[in-house]
Amino acid sequence: MPLSDELRDLYQQVILDHSRNPRNHGEIPPPCLHAHGDNPSCGDEIDVYLRLTEDGQIEDLKFTGQGCAISQASASMMTQKIKGKSKAEAEAIREDFRRVVMGDGAPADEDALGELILLEGVQKFPQRVKCAMLAWRAVEQALEGK
Ligand code: ZN
Repeated sequence: MPLSDELRDLYQQVILDHSRNPRNHGEIPPPCLHAHGDNPSCGDEIDVYLRLTEDGQIEDLKFTGQGCAISQASASMMTQKIKGKSKAEAEAIREDFRRVVMGDGAPADEDALGELILLEGVQKFPQRVKCAMLAWRAVEQALEGK
């Protein structure tokens, strides 16, 4: 179903708001898990910092970075979405988000994605998929301790 221009504008505003006023922006002092991701084709860079509780919940999660609005907005929305979640929950959300932005099947739990669903338009732009996934790949690496 094609989106109305008004809805498109609204989506654009939410994405721009996250990129201009990123949530959970900054570093977590060590000890913490950290990973760096970059996307040379667009010039995006993201560093993620996270701290887990002893039972594997994401207790704190922050990021720094620079780059296009999609990469920064996706990172900002991600921190809001997976902070406080268990590793398994965060991975389930990441997989659903990946499906949405790659147009690779329906998400298992669309409601859990919240605002992240607004980024589904990138599936038409393969270069932008890398932007949208950058922060998520970095979190995956941090969780794996790479
Ligand atoms: Zn980008």
